[in-house]
Amino acid sequence: MRPLNKRSFTARKAEYKPYGSAKTDLMRAIGAYCSYCERHSYSCGIDVEHIRHKSQYIERMNLWSNFLLACKNCNSVKGVNAVKDMYFPTVSDTFRIFAYHWDGRVDINRAALACPAAREKARSLIRLVGLDRRPGHPDYSPRDKRWSDRRAIWALAERYLTPWRAGVLDALVIVDLAKLSGGWSIWMTVFKDEKRVLDKLIVDFPCTRLEYFSLA
Ligand SMILES: [Zn+2]
Repeated sequence: MRPLNKRSFTARKAEYKPYGSAKTDLMRAIGAYCSYCERHSYSCGIDVEHIRHKSQYIERMNLWSNFLLACKNCNSVKGVNAVKDMYFPTVSDTFRIFAYHWDGRVDINRAALACPAAREKARSLIRLVGLDRRPGHPDYSPRDKRWSDRRAIWALAERYLTPWRAGVLDALVIVDLAKLSGGWSIWMTVFKDEKRVLDKLIVDFPCTRLEYFSLA
């Protein structure tokens, strides 16, 4: 999950009525990706997402500060569930909190989360949108392609790691591929030892929280 700094983008308005009219500005601000599973809108379709559900926080329903973008899978699993005491991409370094794997799994990063309470906060966010749903999960649906999309993005990123290391690819190519495929955290993970690529992934993706990363 990509850590986001929405405050780095000046929205045209603090309030959008109807809230769906914020979608274009949101895509300019944070990129056309699901804020939770990071898939590109081309592949999954995204819409305005209320961090705190509109039915429970009527007064916040149209506020820019309460918006993210979400795909149908993440949005439907999240439903009306309350967002409370959990890490969130707009307030925490969610990239460090989760670990991504070649087979499409997402789980908590135990090395980064020392205490049980922190681990539970991370698990709460995974449960909120069902990021861990894949075959074998009790609530998995075959219509939910998030895990297999992650696996495909991982394979794509890995395919370009070798030519990058051989010096035949510019970092710009890697980042352009990442922008088209989505899955920023997967590209960050696969290229974890390639500082020039990491720096460009962090800087070139819109709204990624620079303060969480050392670019020195
Ligand atoms: Zn999603």
